[in-house]
Amino acid sequence: MTLFNPDAAVIIKKGREKSIQNRHPWLFSGAIERFEGTIAPGDIVTVYAHNRQFLGKGFVNPEAQIAVRLLTWRNEDIDDTFWQQRLADALTLRKRLVKDTSGFRLIHGESDGFPGLVVDQYGKVLVLQSATVGMNRLKPQLLEWLKQGCQPNLIVERSESGAMIDENLPHIRQVLWGEGDGQVEIQEHGARFLVDVLQGQKTGFFLDQRENRYRVGQWAAGQHLLNCFSYTGGFSVQAALQGAVATSVDISQPAQDMAQEQFRRNGLDAAAHRFVTGNVFQFLRDMEPIYDFIVLDPPAFAKNRTQLKQATQAYKDINRLAMRNSKPNGLILTCSCSHHLDWDLFQKVVFAAATESGRQVQMIGRWGQPPDHPISLFHPEGEYLKTFLLRVV
Ligand code: SAH
Repeated sequence: MTLFNPDAAVIIKKGREKSIQNRHPWLFSGAIERFEGTIAPGDIVTVYAHNRQFLGKGFVNPEAQIAVRLLTWRNEDIDDTFWQQRLADALTLRKRLVKDTSGFRLIHGESDGFPGLVVDQYGKVLVLQSATVGMNRLKPQLLEWLKQGCQPNLIVERSESGAMIDENLPHIRQVLWGEGDGQVEIQEHGARFLVDVLQGQKTGFFLDQRENRYRVGQWAAGQHLLNCFSYTGGFSVQAALQGAVATSVDISQPAQDMAQEQFRRNGLDAAAHRFVTGNVFQFLRDMEPIYDFIVLDPPAFAKNRTQLKQATQAYKDINRLAMRNSKPNGLILTCSCSHHLDWDLFQKVVFAAATESGRQVQMIGRWGQPPDHPISLFHPEGEYLKTFLLRVV
């Protein structure tokens, strides 16, 4: 089966072909001159320049702001072989570069050539997130290919992202295939983590912080760690396994309950650590300067460009407070997962926080996304995670 509609076409406005020629996968409705033929949302159509020059093929949704999501810039068939090759390429990257874990992102949307789709693998459990009508229509075939390629025993859908608004899609949380309660244990750099793919946040776990959790574990050995926005305690467990004492702060009680479960699973005594259910902003204001290492891993404060100013203030606040209340020679791992706040702006925010804190601060390291969250050079929007390791002298 193919979703290609040979009778339809998208013609773009004169002078608006540049971004597609640069292989950017998003064609915005404002760049479109007209749609030709009868189009159903989610069809795959051919995109032409004003002069009828072939530009590419992609999923179309005439109602959406991102009206076409380009799949190819060559005049090729988009058939089963096309998709299966993309899936095989995605698997190859993970097999080659993602080590010491049974949980990883198998498909990272546009970056892997699957616009609007995320698939996370937790052992034998797959979690799929679709944000477009096109991907929804591909879902039945996708399920078959994922079953063949990954031999899962459960496939769950967690399509609950903000991006779905553009395609006018309702949120969906359901078991797509297989059996199980959605709880699965993964191994990550020697630690065990229970992931609840049906009840947890996002797809159940924040896989993108795997390498940072490992780093913090190594560097917080034997020290006192403050893990802010701790979710199910990932950073805390890695540090505690190295003999650190961890204080985990998160506003979500279910996340804190799960964090304590993670400690038990790893043979750690949860009673020897602290779990605070509350607001990090308040905690940082009131805290004692007793921590050797502070982790700041907040949710994306800027979900879109209009929230940028407010978000910048929030990032500055937590960083300033953490610096102000850091022990001499304390380390801070500070993160931002807002795409709209780029590296440059994030560094400026951290600089402003340092200035206002009155402390001397060094940059020790900087890291982006791990290899299972690749970034297509043609789609810079796929980059979101930025991390600095700081030392407060
Ligand atoms: N570091 C975690 C992932 C953090 S996700 C890991 O490695 O798994 C962000 C977390 O911030 C979520 O668990 C959410 O419940 C929590 N959160 C959001 N706003 C908060 C606030 N104001 N105070 C405390 N926690 C908050």
